[in-house]
Amino acid sequence: MTRYRKGALVIGAGPAGLACALELGKNQVKTTVIEREAQVGGLCRTVVRNGNYYDIGGHRFFSKNKEVNELWHDVLKDDILYVKRKSRIYYRSKYYHYPLRLLNVVQNLGLCNSLLCVGSYAWSLLKKPGDDKTFEGWVINRFGARLYKIFFKTYTEKVWGIPCKKLSSDWAVQRIQGMSMKRAILDAVFKNQSRKTKSFIKNFLYPMYGPGQFCQKLQKFTEQFGVDYRCETDVISIHHNHNRVTHVYARQKDSRMSEYHADIFFSSIPISVLLERFDPKPPKEVMDSVSQLNFRSFLVVNLVLNKENIFDDNWIYIHEPKVRVARIQNYKNWSHYMVKDLTKTTLGMEYFVNENDDVWSMTDADLINQALGELQGLNLCPRDKYLEGFVIRVPKVYPIYDEFYQEHLNKIKEYLSRFKNLQVMGRCGMFRYDNSDHAILTGLFAARNFFESHYDLWAVNTEKEYHEELGPYNKDVNGDR
Ligand SMILES: Cc1cc2nc3c(=O)[nH]c(=O)nc-3n(C[C@H](O)[C@H](O)[C@H](O)COP(=O)(O)OP(=O)(O)OC[C@H]3O[C@@H](n4cnc5c(N)ncnc54)[C@H](O)[C@@H]3O)c2cc1C
Repeated sequence: MTRYRKGALVIGAGPAGLACALELGKNQVKTTVIEREAQVGGLCRTVVRNGNYYDIGGHRFFSKNKEVNELWHDVLKDDILYVKRKSRIYYRSKYYHYPLRLLNVVQNLGLCNSLLCVGSYAWSLLKKPGDDKTFEGWVINRFGARLYKIFFKTYTEKVWGIPCKKLSSDWAVQRIQGMSMKRAILDAVFKNQSRKTKSFIKNFLYPMYGPGQFCQKLQKFTEQFGVDYRCETDVISIHHNHNRVTHVYARQKDSRMSEYHADIFFSSIPISVLLERFDPKPPKEVMDSVSQLNFRSFLVVNLVLNKENIFDDNWIYIHEPKVRVARIQNYKNWSHYMVKDLTKTTLGMEYFVNENDDVWSMTDADLINQALGELQGLNLCPRDKYLEGFVIRVPKVYPIYDEFYQEHLNKIKEYLSRFKNLQVMGRCGMFRYDNSDHAILTGLFAARNFFESHYDLWAVNTEKEYHEELGPYNKDVNGDR
């Protein structure tokens, strides 16, 4: 077994791990990054297959945070595109523009149904019939039961795999807060540009060759500061003593084991996996909470089709309950550089799944077959246009905000706070359903905490518009979620 001793050890080379390594490297801390996959980037990686580029689900770059925007530009320089968003919702054989357009909604729903939606909205405003703690109740109270059924229920249940009444409204608050019927109508009528919610972002940045290009450039940049990357290396146990992490064991692809010692440790791997790999194990009550944190997994069937134009959206949300696919990405509409031959189209058919459920367990050939059948059923492309395809499965990507997650997360946070030389960061590392800008910020701040800063990573909230004016991230500023 090989032993390494370095100043800092970063587990996971997604945006959080890379940002953390950047800050450590720039400050001359000897840093090793351990990554399970063959390439860096995590959920933000771009996979290249036969000259075509595929994301793990399309990744828009947008942030209200100045530092993150500057980092994207500094790293990518001229390799960054400014993309105009086009996306629609497909539901019961009709396309709805998203963000919604009043005329298009009325045309699709019909006058009678549209009036019933208005009535149900008015009723909800008056009576507030929903339970505001659940996703279902929160949305019904703000949009009415009819619109909830059309625009929220089927898609949300596809994404999370649980009934909307079992989902905490935290997710709605985080993602669709600021969206309201009044604003939707005003925006639809007056084409108002001042969108406030993430779901409404109309333009976004996108690297020419996908988000993985940013991650790989950032890796190269940090290597100039001596950061050492160990890819295809899986951390299998995290050892601790007297509330200090002492070392980790990691297995390489060739099964050889290595032992990594460090003064300080940073982790962006799913928080429950981290604690399951603790040695000795955390107390039973902590492990009970760990077992109650659930993640949704993700699977994307990537296809090359012998058809030049299939649709001109960047992606389409498939609310249609008859098919399992939830979203379809069309990569040439994100960036032409993503596709080798522009007379062909590459699509990413996205499925939200549970690890080892019926879809996850299907063979790749069956998944491709199912995806082609669904594409044809949606009248998007006949199956005989199929040229090639492959499947990417990613476990544990969506932290599920169910009714009890906060209670369990609090117990885990309390336990982890005892470890003064370990910081968790990033999306699944902190069980936060958040974007790459959040991951980057938590990575940067985690590293800065090593140099005597006192950032409360749990309080990082990229939704706050003017972070720099609010001062350091502490509980008083953004509130602890
Ligand atoms: C379908 C989808 C669409 C998205 N769209 C957007 C978008 O449009 N815009 C946006 O900004 N964000 C988007 N995101 C979110 C974005 O991908 C994440 O916020 C970001 O990647 C989180 O970064 P991270 O470093 O925290 O975690 P990750 O990217 O998950 O990185 C964690 C890393 O840890 C590694 N790892 C795990 N276990 C081990 C182990 N045992 N040993 C060693 N390494 C390990 C993993 O391989 C991974 O590389 C999307 C995510 C998904 C799933």
